Amino acid sequence: MAFFVTGTDTDVGKTQITAALLRHWVISANSNDGPIAAIKPIQTGYGEGVASDVDVYRLAIADMLVNRQRRVRVGCLRKFRAACSLHLAAALEGKTIAAEPLLEELRVIVKSHAGTLIEGAGGILVPINGLEFTMADLVAALDIPIVLVAPNRVGVLNHIFLTMAELARRALTVAAIVLNQVSEETSPEELRYGEDNVDQVKSRFPSVPVIAIPFCPGETSVRVGAMERHLESQLPANFFTSKVPALPSEKSTAALVFDREHLWHPYEDLARSSPPLPVVSARGAYLQLADGRVLIDGISSWWCAIHGYNHPRINGTIEKQLRSMAHVMFAGLTHNPAIELGQRLLAMAPRKLQKIFYADSGSVAVEVAMKMALQWARGMGDFKKQRFFALNGSYHGDTSGAMSLCDPAEGMHRRFSKILPRQIFLPRPGVPFGQTIDQALERQIYEPFFEKHATEIAGFFLEPIAQCAGGFWFYSADYLELFRNLCDEYDVLFIADEIATGFGRTGKLFACEWADVEPDILCIGKGLTGGCMTLAATLTTEAVASAIARDGPLMHGPTYMANPLACAAACASLDLIAEGTWRKKTRSIEKFLRDKLAPLTAHANVADVRVLGSMGVVEVRDSVDRPSFQRHCVDHGVWLRPFADIIYTMPAYIIGDDQLEKITAAIENWLAP
Ligand code: PMP
Repeated sequence: MAFFVTGTDTDVGKTQITAALLRHWVISANSNDGPIAAIKPIQTGYGEGVASDVDVYRLAIADMLVNRQRRVRVGCLRKFRAACSLHLAAALEGKTIAAEPLLEELRVIVKSHAGTLIEGAGGILVPINGLEFTMADLVAALDIPIVLVAPNRVGVLNHIFLTMAELARRALTVAAIVLNQVSEETSPEELRYGEDNVDQVKSRFPSVPVIAIPFCPGETSVRVGAMERHLESQLPANFFTSKVPALPSEKSTAALVFDREHLWHPYEDLARSSPPLPVVSARGAYLQLADGRVLIDGISSWWCAIHGYNHPRINGTIEKQLRSMAHVMFAGLTHNPAIELGQRLLAMAPRKLQKIFYADSGSVAVEVAMKMALQWARGMGDFKKQRFFALNGSYHGDTSGAMSLCDPAEGMHRRFSKILPRQIFLPRPGVPFGQTIDQALERQIYEPFFEKHATEIAGFFLEPIAQCAGGFWFYSADYLELFRNLCDEYDVLFIADEIATGFGRTGKLFACEWADVEPDILCIGKGLTGGCMTLAATLTTEAVASAIARDGPLMHGPTYMANPLACAAACASLDLIAEGTWRKKTRSIEKFLRDKLAPLTAHANVADVRVLGSMGVVEVRDSVDRPSFQRHCVDHGVWLRPFADIIYTMPAYIIGDDQLEKITAAIENWLAP
C-alpha cells in the first residue's frame, strides 16, 4: 500500500503530516508486516547543515528505531541546492528531472515495501519537468491514493475545492483530506472559521475522511508526536490497508433507488434483481466504485475503451475542442475535427475505401451500410437487389435493419422477427481460426446460396474472423478470401462489420487483413474514440459511392453527425493507434491469455477455450448464472460480463500482466472454487 502526500499549496505542513503518518504507520503495523518507507522524490533547498524533509521523517521515528530500524526506510531521490521550483532548481544545476527513471525508482520502492509514503512538493499541478510531467502525472503513473494536506485558515476552501476538482478530473483517488492548523489561533473567531472549514469540507466530500489537526506547538519531534495522536484518533482504523470499503453516502443510496425505479439498463427489465454498481471514476484498466472498491475492467466497457480510461491525450483533445465548440450540425457545414479524422481514417483503412459517412453508433453505421448497398444497386439500375446475406451466429446491432442481420434463431432479437426484413442466412464458417479450409469443399457449401439468391442480394454482411456477441467464434481467414471471390463473381457487395474487430482487437489493425481482402463497405465504431464518446463510421469505395450518386443523395443524416467532440476524441485515439504500441501489447496479452486459459480445458464444465489477439474466451457447458458470476468476480476485484455459455475477457490494450492475472484467476476460481 502506498500514499502520495500532496498539499493545496507550499508551506501547509505536508512534511510534518507525512512524518506523523509515518510514525502512525510504524506504530500501528504488526511486527511481522514488511518494511515501511517515507520518500521525498525531489528535495530542493538541499545543503549541508540545512534540515531536509527526510530529517523530519527521521526525527518522527527516532525514538522507535531501536527495535524497528530494519523496518523503516527514509530517503530522497533527487536533491537540488536552490530553494525554488523543481524544474528551475534542476535547471540551475544544468539538469532536468527525467520522468521514467524517477518513476521506476519509486515503483521499485513501492513494490519492495509493505507501506510507502511519498511526499510531493507544493501542490498537485507543480511541474516536475515542464508541463509534460507534473506531480499529478507522477501520482497517476504510480496509481496510488492521495492524502491532501491543506492549511486550516481563511481562504483554504477555494484551494481545497480547486485541488479536489482537478484530482476528480484526473480520476485520482483521495484517501484523506488533512486540515492542518499551521499557526496558533489567536481569537475565538479564527477558531470558529477553522471549525467551519472542517464542516464545509466534510459535507462537500462525504465519502473522504477529513482529519482536523489543531496547532501543535513545540520542537519538531514533539509536534509530530502530537500530530500522530490526532491522526490516530481520527483516521479510519483500516486506513493503511484500505480493504474495507467506505459506506455509501445517503446521497448515493437515494441515487440508486432512483436508478432502480426509473432507468433502463442494457438488455434488462426495470425490476432487475441485481442492482448496478455505481462507478465514480475510471482510469487505465480500473473502475473506481462509489463504495471505495476498485475493479479491473476485463471487458473495457464493452470493448471500446481500448487505450484504458481517462487517457490524458484523448481527454486533453476533447477539452481543447470543447473550448471552441461542442457541436455543430454537419448539413451544409463542416469542421476540422471531422476533416482531420477523415484524413486519419483514410491513412489506415484499406486503400480502396475512400468515402466516409459518420454515424452515431455501431448499429447506425450498419443501417447506413445497408442503405449504401441498396442505393448502390439502384444506382446500377438493379431494383431487384433488396436483401442481404449474413452468417448464422452473427450480431450486427440493435436497430431494425441491423437486427434483421443477426442470427435469426439464436440472436437476441427473435421477438421482433415478424416486423424485420427477411435476410438470407449462410452457415456459420466451421473451420476455426488458424486452420486452412478446403476451398473447393467450402465453395460447395456457400456457392449454391449465391447461385440461388444473388440476383436479390445487395450485400453480404459479416464480422470478419471473429463473430463476437454471437458467441465469440473465431473462424479461418480463408473464408474471407472465398467470400470475397463469391461476392465478386455474383455482383454482391462484401460488407465488413469491424465494429468489434477493428483497431487492433484481433492482432491486426483490421481483421480483414488476416486474409488480405478489402471490403466494399466497412463499418467501424467502438474503439474509434477510445471509448470516450459514441461515434461510428461507414466507409466505402469510389465505385460504390459513384453508383449511389446515380441514385441520388445518400439518405441518412443524424442530428449529431460528425459531432466535433467525438471526432476530436477519435483523432487522438487514432494517433495512439498509429503509434503502434498496441501491436506488441496485443501479442503479449494473447500469449498471457493462452498460457492462463488453455489449461482450463481440463475442467469438466469447459467446452472450449479460444484466444485471439486481446480476446480470451472460455465456453462452458452449462450456461453461466450471470449475477452470481459477477458477484464472484467483483469479490476478486474484477469486472466481467458473461452471456449464455460464454465467459470472456476483452481488456484495454494497456492492461498489465498483474491485472490480467487477476482476471484469469477470477475465471479459474469460478470454474474450480
Ligand atoms: N456490430 C458488431 C459486430 C458489434 O459487436 C456491435 C456491438 N456489440 C454492433 C455492431 C452495434 O454497435 P452499437 O452497440 O454501437 O450500436
